[in-house]
Formats: sequence, C-alpha cells, structure tokens
Amino acid sequence: MSEQEAYGRKDNRMLLQDTMQSSGELNDPAAWLKETDIVSYDFPYAAELIAESFREWRGQAVPPFAKLWEWCVLSFEGKWLEGIDGSGARSERWKAQWEAEAAYSLRSGKLYSAEERTTEPAIVLLTIPVLTRGLGEIFALLGCAMTAEQYEQGGVHTAEAMAMHFQTCFYHRFEHVFVSDLAGIHQHAERESSRRSLLFQIVQRMHDNIDVNAVLTEVIDSISAMYPGARLDLFMSQDHRSTHPQVKPLPLRWGDEDVCAKAFKDGRVALHAGSDKRSVEIGLPLGGKQGVYGVFHMVLDRPAFPDVDLRFLSMVADTAGTAFENAKLYERSNQLIRELRMSNELTQRLNQSLRLGDIFQYAFEELLEMFDADYCCILHLNEEKGGLEAIACNYLPLRGEIIDAGNGLGGKVYITGEPIIVSNYRDAEDTTSKLMQATHSQSLIATPLSVGGEVRGAIMLAHREPQFFSYDSFRLLQAMAGHIGLAVGNARLHAEVRYLANRDSLTGLYARHYLDEEIKERQSKDFCGSLIVVDIDQFKMVNDTYGHQKGDKILKQVSEIVKSSIRQGDIAARWGGEELAVYLPQLGVQQAVFVAERIRKRVMGETEPRVTVSCGIAEWSWTDDRVSVESLFYRADMALYDAKNNGRNQVVIDCKDADVNVKNP
Ligand code: GH3
Ligand code: MG
Ligand code: MG
Repeated sequence: MSEQEAYGRKDNRMLLQDTMQSSGELNDPAAWLKETDIVSYDFPYAAELIAESFREWRGQAVPPFAKLWEWCVLSFEGKWLEGIDGSGARSERWKAQWEAEAAYSLRSGKLYSAEERTTEPAIVLLTIPVLTRGLGEIFALLGCAMTAEQYEQGGVHTAEAMAMHFQTCFYHRFEHVFVSDLAGIHQHAERESSRRSLLFQIVQRMHDNIDVNAVLTEVIDSISAMYPGARLDLFMSQDHRSTHPQVKPLPLRWGDEDVCAKAFKDGRVALHAGSDKRSVEIGLPLGGKQGVYGVFHMVLDRPAFPDVDLRFLSMVADTAGTAFENAKLYERSNQLIRELRMSNELTQRLNQSLRLGDIFQYAFEELLEMFDADYCCILHLNEEKGGLEAIACNYLPLRGEIIDAGNGLGGKVYITGEPIIVSNYRDAEDTTSKLMQATHSQSLIATPLSVGGEVRGAIMLAHREPQFFSYDSFRLLQAMAGHIGLAVGNARLHAEVRYLANRDSLTGLYARHYLDEEIKERQSKDFCGSLIVVDIDQFKMVNDTYGHQKGDKILKQVSEIVKSSIRQGDIAARWGGEELAVYLPQLGVQQAVFVAERIRKRVMGETEPRVTVSCGIAEWSWTDDRVSVESLFYRADMALYDAKNNGRNQVVIDCKDADVNVKNP
C-alpha cells in the first residue's frame, strides 16, 4: 500500500495525531514552543524586544554586587541599544569602547574584555555574546563594566552566568510575545469566522425573502444587532413605502459634504467625522446590479469606530442590495401579472354591455376594488347641460352633479388632457377639489378619459391617507382609462347606430318597426296601454297646393307637436306616409283621448299653413281575449277610418263593441 493510499484511509484528525506523535508534540505539548526560536532573518526586527528584555532583566532582583556593575546591551551588529545610565563623558566613552569590543566578540564568537587604566580604581569592560537557543547564533551582546579587582576575583564568571540569565529573560519575553501573537491570530480568526457565519446567515435570510420590505427589515435589524450603539437609517430613492420606522425617503436636497450623497453618487462607502468631533458618520450604498437604490446612514460615537469593520458592512450592504433587487424584480413581475389579470377582468366586464350607463358603473366598481381606493369619481361630458357630470361616484352628494369644465382637479385633467398625481392634498398648490375636500382625502390619482382621441371626461381615485398611490398605480390607472375609453366609444357608436336604425329620418320620430317591438314588449309585461293613430287630413291636397317640400315641413311641424304633447315614457312613431302613431303605456282610452285632443287642437292652432288631423284610438288590456300589436293597430285604424268618415279633424275611440266619437267642437 502506498503512503498516499494509506493517507486516503485516515481522516484528518488521525493524520494530525501522526504528525504530532512523530515530532513528540503529543507527549510534551509545549515542546513546539521550546523549539520556536528567532533566526538571523529575525535579528533586524528584534532590537525592541531585546531592549525591553534588558530593562526587565535589570529590574529583576539580581545579586547585590551585580547591581553595582554597569550594564548595557548591544545589537547583533554590535550597536549600542540600551543600558548605562546618564550621558556623561564616561558613558559616551564606555559605549564607544563596548561597540569596538563587540566587533571582536562578533568575529570570534567569544567574550571580550579590556581594562581601562586611566580611572581609579581600574575598570574592566566586557562584551559577552548572547546566543540563540537553537542554532547558537549571536543575536545580542551584553556589555558589562566592573572593577579590575572584581574581575580578578571571578567577576567574569558571574557576568557570564548573568548573561545566560539575560538569555532566559529574553526567551521568556519572546515566548510571551509569540504566544500572545498566536492568541491574537486565533482571536482574529474566530472573529472572522463568526462574522462569516453571521454574513452567511444574513445572506441566507435575505435571499429567502422575496418580499422587499422583509429584506430591508432584515438588513436593518442585522446591522443594528451588530452595532447596538449606532444610529441607523435607510434612505430609499425609489418610490418605496415601508412600514419600518428606520426606512425613510431619500431627501431631495443634499449638501455636497453629506456622506449619504457621496455614497449614493459614488456607489462606495463614505465617511465623515461628525461636526462635534465626537461621532463618525458612515454612508453605505444599497446597490444591486442595475443601480443604487438607497443609502444606509450610520452614526456612531468616535471611540466605537475602530471596532467597525467597513469591509464587512459593505459586504452586508451589497448582499442587501442584490436581495432587494431580486425582491423588487419579483414584486415587479407579480405586479405586471396582477395588472394583466385586472385589465383582463375589466375589459371582460366592460364588454358585457354596450350601454353607456352600465359601462360607467362597471368601470367605477372595478376601479374602486383594483386600486383599493376610498373614493372613485368618473366625470363625463354632458353636452346638454354644458359641463362635466359626476356620472359614477361613491361619494353620494356629488353623484349626478354638473361641474364646470376646468373647475377643480377633475376639470383641470379634462381641460389639460394630462393625468395628475397628488401625494398630499394639504401641500398641493392652487387647484382645489370638491371631491378631496368633501371626503377629507389626501391622495389622488386622476387621468383624462379619452374617447376616439377626444377627451370626454376624467377618472379620479382618492384615498384618505397621504402618499397612498404608488407611481405604478398612477401608470396603471392611465392604462385602465384607455380600456374604459374604448368601451365608452363602442357604447356610443352602438347607441348611435341603434338610434339611427330606430328613427325616421324626416321627422325624427321612432320608426314603425321600433314601435311594433316596443308595444309587443309592453304587452308581455304591462296591464294595459293605448294607441293613437294620427293622420293629416286632406294631405294630398296640401301637397298639391303648396308642393311636396312644404308638405314635408308640415309633416315635421305635426311631428314636433306630437312629440311635445306626450309624456317621457310615451312613444311617438311615423307609422307610414303622413300617418303618425303614439303608444301610451299603462293608459286607457279615457286618458288617451285627452292626449289625442291636445294634439288635434295644437295642430289646428299651430301649423302653418294650417292643417288638421284625425285620430283613432284603441286600447288593450290584459283581460282581452286576444292581445296583439296587429289587432290594436287594426282597431285604432278602424276608429281613424270612422273619424275620416265623420268629417275629419276629430278623435274617435274604438270601444270594441261600440265606437265613441269625440266630436269636433
Ligand atoms: P285623408 O287622409 O284626409 O283622407 O286625405 P289624404 O289626402 O291625406 O289621404 P291620402 O291617403 O289619399 O293621401 C295621402 C297623401 O299623403 C299622399 C301623399 O302625397 C302624401 N304623403 C305621404 N307621405 C308623404 C311625405 O312623406 N311627404 C309629403 N309631402 N307628402 C306625403
Ligand atoms: Mg291623410
Ligand atoms: Mg293617410
């Protein structure tokens, strides 16, 4: 079995044990520390540590005679580092002497001594190499000054022993530094790992959320938990409504110095020392692949700032930006699907009827629900009344009211043909609105209602809360207004065609087929009704005397008289030629005769040139044996025939059994 194969069968823990056993580490856990050493490569960096160890060593309790000796420590290059107090001439001389001796010691690797005889008592200056514990290289030298007498009495050995003690002190300190470094690295790694796992958790939670608000809440809560002392706000640039109190709209105006403006513009972390010098402001952009959506604004006390890991924070902000973007895209696609579904529903509903009244009612109901609005008001041009009529409105006092085109917000939309959005009515400029005021609404979206390329009205949606409608809603309403305009156009066309199809073009009265259908319809529902047949007397002669054109004019005059002599629900039609017919729903002959008489008298008095008419009246009632349009007409015609025979210009009632004549007075 190859070594690699053998390794393949063991897990990492066992491999580590093997390694430790082979180096003896398992038996003596501190062995590796003892083997840790400085090497010549480290010497240039060890000066500070050597000087510190020297000070510590000097401070420790050493034999009293040694305290009396002067000591110094020199570097691995023989340069003076630390020791001998005072800076007098003697110290300077000795320093130079030691440095000179150190060169010898470094070359030979041995202790060096020289006597200074000029002083009393004579002094011996020693340099003693201090070796590394591993390779035995000279990493420092100790300089020592003692009297010649002390030297001769064995002081040199004591000095050597003390040098060894210095070495121990140095290593003691070295190990201390080494272990604290290790502990530091370990602590750092631990902190890094806990941050990484925190980041991982945040990322996971954020990406689990497909809701925009949940993503923002998550990131704000995470950062706040990491830096509890910091004040944190998130300024969003999009039209974004959030329930989170720390999410605020981006201010429109920023100073150039503002960290938020900087972070937003550059898409990078921005810092600013607070004006009071006691705090630090941080601006962190919330950015995704398609742009920057907002800025986290963090304010913390200056002493807390060194603990802030900006790299980590911007990683969290980046993650939040991407998660926000994803959630936004998801929301957007959902919104589009919703819009499609709603527009589909609306058009389906609108197509259910070709009656204008129905269309407005349907549109109004659908819009209220679709936009979750408190109020909806559809204004439609009423040419007769010369204004905009509130044709559908759930604020009842306004329903049916006519407003001057150009008045109020609805009128403004109608006149300008431009949609408007009002986020806060209280702050809105000049134009006042009856709807907004009466309903205490604060938000409004309104759009013109165009039919066949012509503005014919306006659609208004209102809500009591300010900033209720989003820009998306505003856009959606415009799209929906397009559908409604189409439906209104269709209904109008349909009404026009129906009007033309059912009217007589000369007189403007209903056509005969329409009258037939209406009577049939009434006979299926009502209890009774009367029919008056009106025929112009001697019309042939009128034509012959004045000509056909004049005859037409007289026919129109008579038609106008008939139209203005009946109630709204009565139906006047041209029955054929110069014969007209009026159907009076739910009226018996006794009342119909008054109508006929009114017509007869008015024709006689108002036509120019004067003509007269004869009328035949018949009624039907649900108690009759046979109820039909034909028999009703037949009997009315019979009565007319009698009127003609009786001398014209009179009204005759068909009384089923016996005819009753209303004689010409
Ligand atoms: P009476 O009903 O009193 O018995 O006499 P009359 O002359 O009105 O009756 P008749 O049925 O003989 O003639 C009807 C005339 O009405 C014939 C026609 O010239 C005229 N007439 C029918 N339709 C029109 C029309 O649309 N315009 C004009 N100018 N004349 C019409
Ligand atoms: Mg006639
Ligand atoms: Mg006739």
